[in-house]
Amino acid sequence: MSGSLELSSSIGKHYIDGEFVSSRSGRTFAAINPATEAVTTQVARGDADDIAAAVAAAKEAFTGGEWSRANPSFRRKVLFKAADLIEARSAEMIRLQTLEMGGPLGPEFSGPHPIMARSAWNLRFFAEEQEQAGDHAFNRDDTLLTYTMSDAAGVFGLITPWNGPIMLSTWKMAPCLAYGNSAVHKPSELSSLSIAVLCEIFAEAGMPKGVYNTVLGYGKEAGIPLVEHEDVIGVSFTGSPATAKDIAGRASQSLKRTSFELGGKSANIIFADADLKKAVPAAAMGIFMNSGQVCVAGSRILVQKAIYDDFLEQFQKAASAWQPGDPMTRGTRLGPLVSKAQYERVTGYLDLARTEGRILFGGKRPDGLEKGYFVEPTAIVDVEPTARVCQEEIFGPVATIIPFEDVEHALAIANDSTYGLAGYIWTESQSTAHYVSHRLQTGMIWINSGFDRDLRQPFGGMKMSGLGREGGGLSREFFTETRFASFPLISRGSAPAR
Ligand code: ADP
Repeated sequence: MSGSLELSSSIGKHYIDGEFVSSRSGRTFAAINPATEAVTTQVARGDADDIAAAVAAAKEAFTGGEWSRANPSFRRKVLFKAADLIEARSAEMIRLQTLEMGGPLGPEFSGPHPIMARSAWNLRFFAEEQEQAGDHAFNRDDTLLTYTMSDAAGVFGLITPWNGPIMLSTWKMAPCLAYGNSAVHKPSELSSLSIAVLCEIFAEAGMPKGVYNTVLGYGKEAGIPLVEHEDVIGVSFTGSPATAKDIAGRASQSLKRTSFELGGKSANIIFADADLKKAVPAAAMGIFMNSGQVCVAGSRILVQKAIYDDFLEQFQKAASAWQPGDPMTRGTRLGPLVSKAQYERVTGYLDLARTEGRILFGGKRPDGLEKGYFVEPTAIVDVEPTARVCQEEIFGPVATIIPFEDVEHALAIANDSTYGLAGYIWTESQSTAHYVSHRLQTGMIWINSGFDRDLRQPFGGMKMSGLGREGGGLSREFFTETRFASFPLISRGSAPAR
C-alpha cells in the first residue's frame, strides 16, 4: 500500500492566533493510516489549556473588529481567494485526507477533486450570501420604520467528524467566518492532518490572525472544554447523537446556541415502476461510497415485492464494481473503514446479521487484504425491519434490503426509525413521489436522484438525526445576532412643519 507522504512541519499542530503550535502540555497521539494500520505521525493532543489560548485569540480578533466589522466585500474577497487556493492545492489536500481517514482518491479528475471543489463552493456560496442576501425592513402603518441587522455574534465552537474532513469543516466554517465571527475548530481525532493546509490557506488568503483557530485532539479532552468555555457563544456540531446529547447538556448551562447534524438510517425506497438502470447503481453508490461512512447513506433499501428478486440480482452485480483496495491507487472505489474501533463495530454488526437475517453477499474482510480496516461491500436480507441491523446506524458498507407490499407498507417501515435524516424515492409516478415525500419523516428527500446538493437546501434531520438546519439563510440565522432598529415615520398625509 502506498501510504507515505512528505508531511510538512505544520501538519499535526494546532493553529492558534496565526501560528502552528504544539500542545501546551507537550502531549501527542498517533495518527494511524487506516489502509495499513501504520502510524503516520504524532499529532498535538489538545486540552483545556490549548482551548483557552485559542478562544482568547478568537475573542481578541472578534473584539478588534478587523474581520467582525470589516466590509462584507472584504470578507468576500478573502473567502474567494481561499476558495481558489483550496482548488489549487486540491491534490495535496485529498491525499492527506486519504492518508488520515482512508477515503479513496478516486479516478484522475481534470480539475480539482470534487470534494475539494465542493469545499471551495462552500466558501464562495457564503461569501456571496453574506454580502448580497440583505436584511429586512418593515413599515408599520406609515408611523414606524424598522430595519433588521444580521451581526457577527462572537466566537463559535465548530466540532466536526472524520468522514468528510475538509468538506464538512468548510460547511461550518464558511458561514461562521463569512458573517464575521471568529472560530475555534475541533476536528475529529481521526482526521488531524489535512486541516493544516486549510489553516495555511486562510493565512495566505489574508484572514486576520486569531479569526480562525484549530485545536486538535480528543472529544473528551479538547471538545468538552470548548463546549464549556464561557466566551464561546455557540456550537455547531456534526457527529453522533450520544455526543450531541452531552454537548446539549453542557451548552445549556450557559444558554449557548447549538446546531446538531447527526446520524441516520435512511430509507432508499424503490417502487416497482422505478427506472432500475438508474436506481440500482445509485443504491450501490448510496451505501458503498466512502465505505458507507456517510450520514445520509441509504442504508435501508426498501424494494417493492414485484421487483425484489430482480433487484437483488442487479444490486449484487452493481456491488461487484465496489471492490475494496488501496485508497491511494487511482480508481479504487472502496477504501478501508476509518479505525480499528469502527472496524470492530461494523464486523460486530455483521456477526449479528448472521443471527438476525442472512448475508446475501460480502460480510467479511476481503481476501488478500490482511492489513487495514477493510470490509467487503455487504447486503443483509431476510431480516425483520425491527431487527437491530435495520434500526441502528452501522456506518459501514452494509445495506439491509427489505421487501414491501405497497406505499403504506413502505412508509410504515421507513418511518419506524429513531432517525429522520434523509430519504430517497425511486418511482416514475409523480403522485407517488409527492405523496411519499409528504409522509416520510426525514429532513431531506431526494427523488430519482442520489445525494445532490444545492447549498440553499435546509440541511439537517428530524428525530435523533439532528436539531436545527444549516444552509442558505438558515446558516445566517444561526451564525448571526439578528437585531432591529426602529424609528418613527411621518405619515405620508401630513407635511412636515417647516
Ligand atoms: P463519530 O462517531 O462520527 O466519530 P463523535 O460524536 O464521536 O462521532 O465525534 C464527532 C466529533 O465530536 C469529533 O470531533 C469528536 O472528537 C468530538 N467529540 C466527541 N465527544 C465529545 C464531547 N463529549 N464533547 C465535545 N466534542 C466531542
